[in-house]
Amino acid sequence: MSFEGIKLTPKREAVLAALGIEDIRGILEYYPYRYEHNAITPFKALKNGDKAVFYAEMISSASSYRFRKNMTVTRFKILVEDEYELTATIFNRPWAKMLKINDRLIVIGRYEGEGKLTVMNYYDAKRQDVLGIIPVYPLKDGIGQNDIRKIIELVLNKIDPDDYEQIPQKYLCSHGLIDYASAIKNIHHPAGTQALYQALARLKYEEFLRFYLALEYMRGSDDQKHKPIKHFDPKQIKEFIAGFGFTLTKDQNQAISEILGDLASPKMMYRLLEGDVGSGKTAVALVALYANYLSGHKGALMAPTEILAVQHYEAMIVHLKPLGVRIKMLSGSTKDKKAVKADLAVGDFDIVIGTHALFYDGVSIDGLGLIITDEQQRFGVKQRRMLKNKGEMPDFLMMSATPIPRTLAGAIYGDMDVSIIETMPAERKGCDTYFINHNRIKDITKDLEAILAEGQQIYIIAAAINKSDLIKAKDISAVFDEIQNTFRGYDIAILHGRMSSEEKDEVMKRFNDGLYDILIATTVVEVGVNVKNATGMVVFDADRFGLSQLHQLRGRIQRGDKRGKFYLLSDTKEPSTIERLGVLVQTNNGFEISVADLKLRGMGDILGVRQSGLPSFVLGDIFKDHKIIAAAKSDAKAIIADDSDKTKLLAEVIKKAQQNYID
Ligand code: ADP
Ligand code: MG
Repeated sequence: MSFEGIKLTPKREAVLAALGIEDIRGILEYYPYRYEHNAITPFKALKNGDKAVFYAEMISSASSYRFRKNMTVTRFKILVEDEYELTATIFNRPWAKMLKINDRLIVIGRYEGEGKLTVMNYYDAKRQDVLGIIPVYPLKDGIGQNDIRKIIELVLNKIDPDDYEQIPQKYLCSHGLIDYASAIKNIHHPAGTQALYQALARLKYEEFLRFYLALEYMRGSDDQKHKPIKHFDPKQIKEFIAGFGFTLTKDQNQAISEILGDLASPKMMYRLLEGDVGSGKTAVALVALYANYLSGHKGALMAPTEILAVQHYEAMIVHLKPLGVRIKMLSGSTKDKKAVKADLAVGDFDIVIGTHALFYDGVSIDGLGLIITDEQQRFGVKQRRMLKNKGEMPDFLMMSATPIPRTLAGAIYGDMDVSIIETMPAERKGCDTYFINHNRIKDITKDLEAILAEGQQIYIIAAAINKSDLIKAKDISAVFDEIQNTFRGYDIAILHGRMSSEEKDEVMKRFNDGLYDILIATTVVEVGVNVKNATGMVVFDADRFGLSQLHQLRGRIQRGDKRGKFYLLSDTKEPSTIERLGVLVQTNNGFEISVADLKLRGMGDILGVRQSGLPSFVLGDIFKDHKIIAAAKSDAKAIIADDSDKTKLLAEVIKKAQQNYID
């Protein structure tokens, strides 16, 4: 932590640590999440039930009573506007009985009619700071509004927020935005509604500007370079597609024609292929790789996990190998890595499939014409930059099952092109989803037995591998015990991220072969796993997961020709969490879910932005701030392009991006 020049009591340091604030800027930018408007209310204008804010004079002493077990009620009389006599009642503030006759107060409460006032708060009449627009900060256990208000107060008195300005004047001027110091003062203590809006506009702009600067920087800005056009024979592509054994959906065909168009153009492809889990993105990827191969180029397909990589490899062996395409696979557990690397190094391959190992294992693959990344946007941005730095110009396709509506994709990914597969292959049977507000298997034992009795398999998902004080969730072994005690005589296996790749593959393979009835796993099964006979899934501690993540998991049990059954278990009492999980019960449409998720959790979490080094938005709202987004986006391009504009802001953004993002 570095709070230069500011003396903090240990208690305050603890508050900041608990809130995850690490520096002065973190304090300045710990924004209120709402405001209370405390303006003195004229008594005559009040209706019953209205919020009331008065200057008041005590005209009686206060008397306190206890009732029920630990409740107190305190009553006193006050005079308002020198004219109206009111009976004030305040609950559970026994110390209010210290109030004395003639005390002058500001009282805030609700007018109940007939001269009665329920008081929420009262202050000394000199406390002007409680009037006006009052910030309300997000809190954590054991931290009060006042703790935060006082720290911010202290910092604002000790430092000059002007020193923290990072945006060049000319951009502020051209959009009519206020400076950092005024914005920060007004976000914490708005002089009025107008001032608050100005502060918001300025600070949102800064958030978006940081985001697009990082994005532009990581992407590299040599998009205008022309790559060699790729030539392939459409007839061969047609024949290849005919070999799939199914008819492509309209959206698959559309995506394929967009991608083939990119390959055949001189512009480097930079395209996102979005499609819900099971929408058939792999077939599209295979066509793209085949066209790239026909054009005489090598291709790479990168998957985030071993399991997924193997599945892609197997699909290629079936579809591409018979056509003479040389396919190599390189992942963490590849047996003769050396031999594979040697083949890659001398170019003895046409398509290589792999996990991170492909790029991090010191492998040099030159002359790639097409790179496809599956289920991981972050992957792509980074590798693309690396390759560009080496002067190569491969086409790039990123596949994602976290669908983002087309209108938002532009805002999020900047100038990336987007293909969307919205129609699902016809025979998909869908899924029934149930929310059970108990984090135990007991309530659904019968349902699960019915699934097993039909010879189908079940996934059980645990939120934690090990017991931990930090995460209140049943760990794998607790879940295992519960399942084993409930389902006697069934074969049960465990799969988690701490196992070696060989072990994981072995378990997955045996589950796939039907040797286990139940697989208890962490989210390692999240992406891509394809076991058609598994139609049931139970998620313990479902509240610990994001909606999109749960939707991904749900995709695992919609692979076969039976309807899936998906059970969300949670003890949560939090109405907002119950509502959030309810979204999954209501819809099986990935786009609707990702919009709900974006609204509920913000973009950072969805895209893994926090880990990726891309700044996230606290104030900014990608659903509403279209104008600010457009301005920030074009300014970011200008700042990156113009060397004389290399600002402090950019330097800082780059530093963060490099720390978090570029290995
Ligand atoms: P995802 O988009 O989740 O990666 P996949 O590409 O793995 O989906 O496809 C899921 C399953 O659907 C695969 O078994 C695949 O063979 C099948 N599939 C893909 N396209 C079609 C289609 N048009 N008609 C029927 N089945 C299809
Ligand atoms: Mg897939």
